[in-house]
Amino acid sequence: MTGNLATMTGMNAPTGLLIGGHWSAGRAGVLPVTDPATEDVIAEVASASTEDALDAVTAAYEALPKWAARPPRERGECLRRAYELMMRDAEPLARLMVIENGKALRDARGEIAYAAEFFRWYAEEAVRNSGYLSVAPSGANKIMVQHQPVGVSVLITPWNFPAAMATRKIGPALAAGCTVVLKPAKETPLTALAVAALLQEAGVPEGVVNVLPTTTPGPMTEAMLADPRVRKLSFTGSTEVGRRLLRTAADTVTNCSMELGGNAPFLVFDDADIDAAIEGAFLAKMRNGGEACTAANRFYVQDAVASEFSAKLAARLSSLQVGPGLEDGVDLGPLVNSDTRSKVAQLVESATKDGGRIVTGGRAPDRPGYFYQPTVLDDVPSDAGILSEEIFGPVAPIVRFTDVDEAISLANSTEYGLVSYLYTTDLRRALRVAEALEAGMIGINRGVVSDPAAPFGGVKQSGLGREGGHDGLLEFTETKYIAVDW
Ligand code: NAD
Repeated sequence: MTGNLATMTGMNAPTGLLIGGHWSAGRAGVLPVTDPATEDVIAEVASASTEDALDAVTAAYEALPKWAARPPRERGECLRRAYELMMRDAEPLARLMVIENGKALRDARGEIAYAAEFFRWYAEEAVRNSGYLSVAPSGANKIMVQHQPVGVSVLITPWNFPAAMATRKIGPALAAGCTVVLKPAKETPLTALAVAALLQEAGVPEGVVNVLPTTTPGPMTEAMLADPRVRKLSFTGSTEVGRRLLRTAADTVTNCSMELGGNAPFLVFDDADIDAAIEGAFLAKMRNGGEACTAANRFYVQDAVASEFSAKLAARLSSLQVGPGLEDGVDLGPLVNSDTRSKVAQLVESATKDGGRIVTGGRAPDRPGYFYQPTVLDDVPSDAGILSEEIFGPVAPIVRFTDVDEAISLANSTEYGLVSYLYTTDLRRALRVAEALEAGMIGINRGVVSDPAAPFGGVKQSGLGREGGHDGLLEFTETKYIAVDW
């Protein structure tokens, strides 16, 4: 790490690969890390080769029997210490994340607290991995069921939540008795490496957690998935890459959990508390600058309240201070890189060509860094292209609707099904619509659903499996049935 970066963050984050408890240089050169607020390279991190990846699999495989045999309480205590260490270092970790990801410091602080909670939650779940015993209907034998660790797990995480997506996988894997090889996104390796150093400090044994940033994720992951010692892939990222990894994992029938893209609808009915809906819309859209799989991507607002909603949302978003994430008072940092900003700009342009009207924003400010102004588009036609893609930026397209069934049908007209939000004061309507929406998670009069204690995940092409809650622990186990007669 450069001296400057250490001064800016207040910490000396590692920049090597972590394999078998040792930090090393990568055999595939280095990976430059860029600050999206300045476009400057701020660090160089070791880049892993396929050979490094197989060394990490060996380390994880050798560490597995001892770790799986450790009393659950001891595994839980390691995670509990990791939680406490993350909270001790919350401020430098948050600053480090801002510099490599761009998000505003307030968002980064929120993410570190959220990320640490996964260690605390799974410290508690480690001792609650219970099976069951029943009698076969014929009375011939007992049915004994236990959940054993699935084994060496490959974890792949995206850049938008560099800490939380790592802890949401490492926490349950370690609690269940698995050992892991984590591959963080190339844009944000520093946060993952810093979290790994804290796990070492917390007493996690050598080889249990291995971390491999790389410039060549494809070949490296293929080599790991082809290795029969790897029994699990837990991936968070785009649906496109998820589909490719599922095909690769099919060759070895590797167990997969996939947290993929979203295209969340946000429904506002004419009986909603509009001020509460604006607050919820603000959180659902602007948490993490819109770079979230859970981000509200399509606002469907009933005719009678649409003009009020549009004007109030535009007023709320245009009051945000845009700038480098570490500056005082900044609400919205830059997007992660130039490609992401170009995609956002193109989607806004296509929405206006399709008939949408810009109420606020609609352009990138004239300054260095990958910034884009908070934007509200009203009168977007329900077949506009912007509604079928993840925007992944601070842009809120509003579509007006007339009746409830039309709103449900519009909300479900996507291949994705991660989360949906709805605002109404009518309980019967809320529950009826919640049941009809095709999504793994629903926020009723809430703009945020994520919680370490709740099962997070999607239906349709938003993924397979769940993270968080007790379900998240089970994803890292295999169910074993023992027929026994006594
Ligand atoms: P991405 O799919 O481009 O990359 C995700 C990870 O996969 C990165 O670590 C990347 O290096 C790696 N990767 C890319 N190509 C690979 C390959 N061929 N083989 C192996 N690994 C490969 O996604 P991203 O741009 O980093 O993240 C944004 C996406 O993640 C969005 O679609 C977002 O919705 C999704 N996401 C989903 C959740 C969820 O829980 N459902 C959470 C956060 C982000």
